Amino acid sequence: MAQEKYNGWTNYETWKSYMEFFDGYRVDERIDGDYCYDRLTEYLGTHDYAYMEDNFKDRLANRLFTEFVDKVNFDEIADSVNEMSGIENECQMCGKPIDYNQLVCSSICHEASMR
Ligand SMILES: [Zn+2]
Repeated sequence: MAQEKYNGWTNYETWKSYMEFFDGYRVDERIDGDYCYDRLTEYLGTHDYAYMEDNFKDRLANRLFTEFVDKVNFDEIADSVNEMSGIENECQMCGKPIDYNQLVCSSICHEASMR
């Protein structure tokens, strides 16, 4: 059975993260889910959570944050940000149409974009 949606989003955690942090967020270039994850964790200062477990408060904060964030569909957030930013849904390298949460259409274009 498909997971129940929340306000049209994958789940509550995805919707909440979008509304609290990414609503109104605009970009000049196509982004993906990893980018969104990095922005959120960077902002919250939880990016290096593996290194900040030296006291109970940090451990608790990390556990709560991780439990929440593990459920977030960052690809869906990236889709939305790209769409709201008016980014064309086409491969950055060759221009072929692709899904909003992708950067390039194929591994060949991916390799080309790394150069
Ligand atoms: Zn391509």
